[in-house]
Amino acid sequence: MAQLYFYYSAMNAGKSTSLLQSAYNYKERGMHVVLFTAALDDRFGTGVVASRIGLQAEAQLFGQDSHLLEQINKLNRQQRIDCVFIDEAQFLTKEQVKQLTFVVDELNIPVLAYGLRTDFAGETFEGSHYLLAWADKLVELKTVCHCGRKANFVVRMDEQGQAVKQGAQVDVGGNDKYVSMCRLHFKQLVWE
Ligand SMILES: [Zn+2]
Repeated sequence: MAQLYFYYSAMNAGKSTSLLQSAYNYKERGMHVVLFTAALDDRFGTGVVASRIGLQAEAQLFGQDSHLLEQINKLNRQQRIDCVFIDEAQFLTKEQVKQLTFVVDELNIPVLAYGLRTDFAGETFEGSHYLLAWADKLVELKTVCHCGRKANFVVRMDEQGQAVKQGAQVDVGGNDKYVSMCRLHFKQLVWE
């Protein structure tokens, strides 16, 4: 039976690297994989999953209106897909996460989704919210705070290096930087 996996973390825990490594392992065994990434993340140009250590691979783009079940079903009829990888999965909608459960349960294709657990305010993204609720397997990818504790929060820093406490969940094209921190240090900067 195929399963839906959610690999979640804060920023810079190596999600894309982990995704690309797993996709490579499938391809090395002669298996056919399809990669998706969010259309709004154009850091590395469109249609590419790229990791900070220099690995990259082509990907299909998904937006808010993409019908992932239809797209994957169509691709699967052209050539049987052995695994679907989703980068930036926090940007999936509730409906799209639901569609991925059909890909797993009806098409019997494993789906590995990688994304942030929470935003700069400590709230779940829509995609991560439903992946945390509905995935078969939850896997935490760990990174560390400057103090050495596990970092499971993301702090948005403005150009002056101040923590942003409110604003839009997604800051497209902004100059803000994101830093992973432990809960204690996140709280001191954002909640207090
Ligand atoms: Zn800390």
